[in-house]
Amino acid sequence: MFIRATAIILINLPLFFVDSAFLILVENMNNQAWSDRDLKVLWHPCSQMKDYAEQGLPLIPIKSGQGVWLEDFEGQRYLDAISSWWVNLFGHANPRINQAVKQQLDTLEHVILGGFSHEAAILLAEQLVAITPPGLDKCFYADNGSSAVEIALKMSFHYWRNLGQPEKTKFITLENSYHGETLGALAVGDVGLYKDTYAPLLMEVITAPGPDCFYRESGESWEAYSTRRFADMEQLLAEHAGNVAAVIVEPLVQCAGSMRMYHPVYLSLLREACDKYQVHLIADEIAVGFGRTGTLFACEQAAITPDFLCLSKGLSGGYLPLSAVLTRNSIYQAFYDDYQRLTAFLHSHSYTGNALACRAALATLAIFQQDAVIDNNQQLARLMREATAPFADHPHVAEVRQTGMIVAIELVKDKQRREPFPWQERRGLKVFQHALTQGVLLRPLGNVIYFMPPYVINAQEIKMMVDVAWQGIACAVKD
Ligand code: PMP
Repeated sequence: MFIRATAIILINLPLFFVDSAFLILVENMNNQAWSDRDLKVLWHPCSQMKDYAEQGLPLIPIKSGQGVWLEDFEGQRYLDAISSWWVNLFGHANPRINQAVKQQLDTLEHVILGGFSHEAAILLAEQLVAITPPGLDKCFYADNGSSAVEIALKMSFHYWRNLGQPEKTKFITLENSYHGETLGALAVGDVGLYKDTYAPLLMEVITAPGPDCFYRESGESWEAYSTRRFADMEQLLAEHAGNVAAVIVEPLVQCAGSMRMYHPVYLSLLREACDKYQVHLIADEIAVGFGRTGTLFACEQAAITPDFLCLSKGLSGGYLPLSAVLTRNSIYQAFYDDYQRLTAFLHSHSYTGNALACRAALATLAIFQQDAVIDNNQQLARLMREATAPFADHPHVAEVRQTGMIVAIELVKDKQRREPFPWQERRGLKVFQHALTQGVLLRPLGNVIYFMPPYVINAQEIKMMVDVAWQGIACAVKD
């Protein structure tokens, strides 16, 4: 019934034929054909498009997903070792999440959350309040991580204003941090690659030296180093607290900042200092939340409650865009007044609290409850530790580091001096390209190769993922 048509025919078709013509065209298309069509109309995120169009970097069209596997249009499979940008927790096409979303689809796909509500948004907010650190009582939804960060920043600033302290306008952030790409989130980040170009557009922030344990002295423990590094933060708080609304951090792992890691003691000290200096603490657990660091939330390892907790990515199991900012009742109360006093938080996004996304999130949380995920992950984390241990002796590996379900391998040109490979050489990209040919999706951050797989990965798949990275590194460092 389908006839293969050509693009030339398509151009001459009257408009009302176009839909069916596209249907005809998709039949039997291979990767190259999809990629060609893609490049005519799509502008991809975080990409130099010339790499795909002219430099031979493959652009892989994915047809379907199942568990840790993605499959392209020619039947080649790729192990999703990075959980599709850290969002997927329980595999692609997870039957339990699929079922929940399908049911929700037949009931209610979406409704405005201003003045209206729905079952999934309410149940999810109840559960998030119950499972996040004690003292977080209110849930404000948005639809992506950057927006959650914007909300936390605005709420913090606005809280102090409502309390009669409008001079608290500044934010303290950590060196090497990342909080998203919208202008406010970018301003509180510190990864030059993403930020520098836009510097003239960004608000000024106070950047504290980081606790990143890559720089500890040899023989110094993570705890000792992170403790020592807190002195700078304490000093900044002492100097600037009167003008500071909040400190924002990514608890334990600075993911986009090359998966650099630090000890929970830094968070405990930060919580104490924020209390002492009357400054909010914003914990951005968008990447590290939902079990990535070994506990459901990274803040648990320091036994702290932030004033704002930003969640996204794994929140919906990697299914649909959703984010949430959890905060304290006392903060909520500072906005709660007669309308005429104009203290309300008048922030909104059209898809805030989308019903399908909330239902996917509820199904995701149900899996955590039913399957003892955090306990099982300890096993997986051990397998990942054992499998990656040999990299420590590799002549071009400066460090293998791990926090829970995140393992990172830092490639360097000179191991003794820890001299990095020049970024222009794009060694990580070579690992990426090699891995693709072997059926593994790795997406190194510069010269850092990392694994952050879905929690449904098994021992054999861990071995494959790590073996392929080993070969990829061999190819990448060879000249
Ligand atoms: N914060 C952190 C810690 C992140 O890792 C990210 C995304 N990588 C964001 C914020 C931004 O989230 P989104 O991409 O959904 O805007």
